[in-house]
Amino acid sequence: MVLTQEQLEMIQKQLVGLPPEEQQKKMQEILAQLPPEDVEALRQQQCPFCMIAAGKIPAKTVYEDDMVKAVLDINPANKGHILIFPKTHYQLLFTMPDNEVARIFQVANKLSKAVFEIVGAQGTNIFVANGQAAGQNAPHVLVHVIPRFEDDKVGLVWQPKKIEEKEMEEVAAKLKEIKITIGEEKPVVEEAEVEKEETEEEQRIP
Ligand SMILES: [Zn+2]
Repeated sequence: MVLTQEQLEMIQKQLVGLPPEEQQKKMQEILAQLPPEDVEALRQQQCPFCMIAAGKIPAKTVYEDDMVKAVLDINPANKGHILIFPKTHYQLLFTMPDNEVARIFQVANKLSKAVFEIVGAQGTNIFVANGQAAGQNAPHVLVHVIPRFEDDKVGLVWQPKKIEEKEMEEVAAKLKEIKITIGEEKPVVEEAEVEKEETEEEQRIP
């Protein structure tokens, strides 16, 4: 299911000239009126990583299988910075089925090992930004493999916060109560919203 050029142009016309926040609001309104198949189609048509997965945007592919694709990041933190992403569109890691999550981290781990040799990395970071608060700017799940070097000035450190013992215990107890099922082979939840698709161009995706 693909939206026609006409449908896309109609949507674009409604958004043009609006400031980014209002564009987002308007987009939500438009999406709310579309049937779910069209929302999914639109999301994929607009998502740069779905386009890369489909070969519509060129990229320096370093690995590909039936579920995931890995490319060099065009704005790397260091030489050899790799992005691994699912070929199916998911916005957040925890909405992915477990078998795809397993695959993406298996591939990330192998590529992480490879960059030690290929670019002479002294270490690697593997990470995911889930949500805007975590610095996610792409509408698609991305697992980053960042080769690290002594004094490379890549900022992934934080100041530890003081959390009261009681609060720590509460959080631990609540987490322990959560029923965790491993091995889900279906998407965990339906993604309801498209966020930030029209304003993502400038800031770097961490
Ligand atoms: Zn996508």
